[in-house]
Amino acid sequence: MSTSNDITPLAPGSVIGIIGGGQLGRMSAMAAAELGYRVHIFTPETDSPAAQVCARTTVAAYDDEAALEAFARDVDVVTLEFENVPTAMLKRLAAQAPVRPHWKCLEICQNRMKEKAFANELGIETAPWIAVWDVPGLSRAMEEIGGPTILKSTLMGYDGKGQVRIPPGADPMRAWSELNCDVGVLEGLVDFDMEISVITARGPDGAMVSFEPVENRHKDGILDITVAPATLATALADEARVIAHKLAESIDLVGLLAVEMFITHDGHILVNEMAPRPHNSGHWTQDGCATSQFEQFIRAVCGLPLGAVERHTNITMTNLIGTDVEAWAALLADPHNKIHLYGKNEVRAGRKMGHVNRLCSSQF
Ligand code: AMP
Repeated sequence: MSTSNDITPLAPGSVIGIIGGGQLGRMSAMAAAELGYRVHIFTPETDSPAAQVCARTTVAAYDDEAALEAFARDVDVVTLEFENVPTAMLKRLAAQAPVRPHWKCLEICQNRMKEKAFANELGIETAPWIAVWDVPGLSRAMEEIGGPTILKSTLMGYDGKGQVRIPPGADPMRAWSELNCDVGVLEGLVDFDMEISVITARGPDGAMVSFEPVENRHKDGILDITVAPATLATALADEARVIAHKLAESIDLVGLLAVEMFITHDGHILVNEMAPRPHNSGHWTQDGCATSQFEQFIRAVCGLPLGAVERHTNITMTNLIGTDVEAWAALLADPHNKIHLYGKNEVRAGRKMGHVNRLCSSQF
């Protein structure tokens, strides 16, 4: 059996197992099909966005050991489309099929504290942060960091969930009970110039490429718009890629790593968080690059050579959140809008229903 770092490419026709059935799994499965692979999705959700476009699906809970083992026996490689999967389960699956990325990557990326410590140990800057376990600890941390802060849950945070902003002098007891978790991370609130991200692909042979940095604008803690490329000085753009490569290499990633960063007013880059999978801020690559992040993900996980990452068109990607999707017909009426919908029947506030890549070329 091959292992996570085996460099023998997986031939088309092989089966890629993806844990998670959301839109990232859906778009990855579509990219896999284009390269001649079959995809088997493991998800607790029925009629998931990914299941609608893949060859096979197992619908079972993430702790259903028998279902997981049967899934792993059926596939040639296991990967994932979201990072909050129990690592004990991935360790177990690794006995049946190569798991890419390795569970050790997940262990770091699932936990804000480990993630920040990992970056800082590599000499990479983050916002000032302190781990907190209780109200007196939070109170001390607020004093030490000073100014406005943001308290985040250590585990399971995404799309701005599990976060409380704390103005200076606010009541720590109230903030702690609002967060309602066992361990938190208190961060200094960064008054940034811009938020950017870099997506890096790394194969089992260590080959690495990054898409260029893009600017991300958030609304209510959820990504709203990505502008590709970010308007950045070349030196800063290069530095952002160097940081992303350093993180991907040091964590021994196989697959994709999305690194979110803040650019401060004085030109410093602070890493906010990383995700070892395709990322919302990489959706622009579907219509802006020869190789999309999803194809690159499949190439990396299957040990194929990585594709070209150059941008051929400027893109503004806008998420369709909740009822935004109802404008689909008007959006389609503009021929330079490329619409990607996720097949979710139920519209809910804050739910990502699709996205639009607007082509912004000087030719039209
Ligand atoms: P996160 O879940 O850490 O990605 O946070 C979601 C969003 O909240 C980020 O994209 C930022 O817009 C904002 N945010 C998170 N942490 C900070 C911080 N330390 N300073 C300023 N804004 C932040």
